[in-house]
Amino acid sequence: MRAAVLSKANQVEIREFPEPSKTQDNEVIAKVEFVGVCKTDQQLTAAGLDKDCILGHEVVCSLPNQKGHFALNNEISCGKCSYCLEGLTSHCLNLQELGVNEHGGYAEQICAPRNSLHPFEFSNPTLGVLIEPLSCAVRGVKRIIAGVNLLATSHPKVLVIGGGISGTLITYLLNHSPNFKGEIKVYDITKEPLPWLNKLGIERIQVPEPNQAHVVVECSGSPGGLATALDLVRKGGLVCIYGVPKPGISLPISPHELFMREIAVVTSFAGATDETIAAAIASIKGDEAFFEQLLGRFIPLEKLPIELTNWSPQPGTRTVVDLDA
Ligand SMILES: [Zn+2]
Ligand SMILES: [Zn+2]
Repeated sequence: MRAAVLSKANQVEIREFPEPSKTQDNEVIAKVEFVGVCKTDQQLTAAGLDKDCILGHEVVCSLPNQKGHFALNNEISCGKCSYCLEGLTSHCLNLQELGVNEHGGYAEQICAPRNSLHPFEFSNPTLGVLIEPLSCAVRGVKRIIAGVNLLATSHPKVLVIGGGISGTLITYLLNHSPNFKGEIKVYDITKEPLPWLNKLGIERIQVPEPNQAHVVVECSGSPGGLATALDLVRKGGLVCIYGVPKPGISLPISPHELFMREIAVVTSFAGATDETIAAAIASIKGDEAFFEQLLGRFIPLEKLPIELTNWSPQPGTRTVVDLDA
């Protein structure tokens, strides 16, 4: 089959690759239809891996002799370790991540446990590539709302830093959560228009000021974004690190200052569970028109190596690999 294979840093090759075969009874071979190109793919590509690996974890696929489309939960957990028993499957001690450290979706076929494939019915099945990132945001918002309980106010002012896909999904869910009562604003360092903000009726801040936001959600994953978040948040406030910080970067604040300003820091690394996937599917199904705006360019598999090495998605959108193109 055709596959995009990552070997050394910045070397993604389109080549013939052996078709996957089942090694366990619970596995199925699915036909890949669409895959979202995530910044994680770009970071893995830049770093390289010590073995050949097919990336791609935001996967929509179909199954032989079955109608409809399925979204992959790429985190394959053991179900037995102490983390799995607490439902923290993303922290499973035996975690396999398809498209990260095991073969994923940038290929004509993928082998995955049957129960990791979640059926969904959207009028536009391509929207299925957003199920995995949205399900991570479902968890992020749950942790932000839990953190709001630490604040002195129950109607916090929230500033989301970063108007990319992560910031968009967090903002959307927070804005639609029945458990959140507050005000949301978005700050993005670029001058790019963010049309989805208007649809949500959310204000974009041009110059953020300190001592305004009770909660700052850092969604850009940039060192500057993290420094800005810690700089801006009110005393007694909450910073959520949602964008993935690059390895090797220190927290740009001293423990003394963190203590004196009484800042709580919450992170949200963990990804998809059955519960968050179900919530993500329900959100998209209820508002397909909103999520359609987040679909960017469609590219054939052959264009993926360039996409991964010259990261340039249309701002605030997902580039999608169409395996049938
Ligand atoms: Zn991703
Ligand atoms: Zn486990």
